[in-house]
Amino acid sequence: MKQTNLELELSENDMRALTEVAAKYAIEHIKSLAEQPSNNVTQGAQLARNLIEPLPQRGIKVEPLFQQLFEQIIPCSYTTPGPGYLAYIPGGGLFHSAVADLVANAVNRYVGVWLAAPGLVQLETNVIRWFCDIVGYPKQALGILTTGGSMANFSAVVAARVVRLPEAFLKGILYVSSQVHHSIGKAAKLAGFPAANVRAIPCNPDYSISIEALVQALKADRQAGLMPFMVVGSAGTTNTGAVDDLDSLADLARQENLWFHVDGAYGAFFMLTETGRRVMKGIQRADSITLDPHKGLFLPYGTGALLVKDRQTLQRAHSGNADYMPTMQKDENFIDYCELSPELSRDFRGLRVWLPLKLHGIQPFCDNLEEKLELTRWITRELKKLAHIEIVAEPQLSVVAFRWTPPGVEGAALNALNQKLIERINARQRVILSGTMLAGTYVVRICILSFRTHAQHVRYALEDLQSSMAELR
Ligand SMILES: *Cc1c(COP(=O)(O)O)cnc(C)c1O
Repeated sequence: MKQTNLELELSENDMRALTEVAAKYAIEHIKSLAEQPSNNVTQGAQLARNLIEPLPQRGIKVEPLFQQLFEQIIPCSYTTPGPGYLAYIPGGGLFHSAVADLVANAVNRYVGVWLAAPGLVQLETNVIRWFCDIVGYPKQALGILTTGGSMANFSAVVAARVVRLPEAFLKGILYVSSQVHHSIGKAAKLAGFPAANVRAIPCNPDYSISIEALVQALKADRQAGLMPFMVVGSAGTTNTGAVDDLDSLADLARQENLWFHVDGAYGAFFMLTETGRRVMKGIQRADSITLDPHKGLFLPYGTGALLVKDRQTLQRAHSGNADYMPTMQKDENFIDYCELSPELSRDFRGLRVWLPLKLHGIQPFCDNLEEKLELTRWITRELKKLAHIEIVAEPQLSVVAFRWTPPGVEGAALNALNQKLIERINARQRVILSGTMLAGTYVVRICILSFRTHAQHVRYALEDLQSSMAELR
């Protein structure tokens, strides 16, 4: 027999040393986030090419590896966990969750089936129940933690298809607004629908779905013999943070017997605020809701959630069985998550949500979200004071969309100018903004969501906007 290689089982000292090195570098990194450039990817292609290497045959020491990682590789990036990240939809990066992942991976228990780790599965269920409480869902509601909003939307579309349509489902039509996140279209495609089955309904001037146009589209499709089965409302669009009239959508969905899904990947955690509860009124009437803890709860990337009002619907869409599997739970109170989601083996992602919530309680999360709303109101007021700045979408949550309209510049030239404006702002490396197209018009967006973003960096955004405009004039 070949000699046993025990190298992969680290000694106590090696484990300690490895953890300490990782902690040292990670903590130094986080301490310096506010001073790091907001974005720094100009040498990206060269770096990526330099990193290509064959399968290592021999190991090397940990220090030089971490040094390369933290000094060379990580800095070449958008500083997404930093306070200046105001682009797209910011994430967060609570350190607690990083530590939770360390523990979850170190103990490496199996949470796909209840029997294998009943207590840990319960912690994850608690987390999902807390989310249900946040959106106002009833007792029988439940859900799953996913890797993100896209996967949550995917499982929602599959559940709606299975519950509302026959097995031959190709006459099924989904209704979304023209502003819906593209992951819904992707979800429909993955769920087997041709692109033509997704109806993009026009929006009102505030970028919320036009209920009137939706009613017309439903009527036309029914007359054509098609089978409307699902409507998606946005609780905070990515473009402008617009929230659809969820109460009206719920009414219509009930009349028309449609599955009502709310994509709250960006906005749903604002249910922890007064403003959020007002603008998302009716969200609890949805059959399913997507939330992204890695956005509105400030977690590191890799955690989304799908909640359903009736857990049986998820089960019908996802359960499967095999002779080698243990017996699944019959007790209503206990859950085999592999029965509710596409995944079987997976990480214990419940712990990364559970730990920060247990350590702090919910209040600091509420306070942080309130602060983001207030900062957004502040910068919107300041933008309105600037000459030739047009607010394209008043913020309902924490996105403001605007453009610079100096006299004499129009059409494509105006779009190009606003694009250039973002480039100039980002080149200052204090904040990073992104833009989008709204009905042929290029607009600049500021989205404030990171728990690390406070007044200082929002002020930087304003200063850098003004100096960039001065430069381009
Ligand atoms: C971010 C986002 C998604 C996609 O979520 P991921 O976590 O990136 O997969 C879907 N819908 C909306 C409204 C979003 O903001």
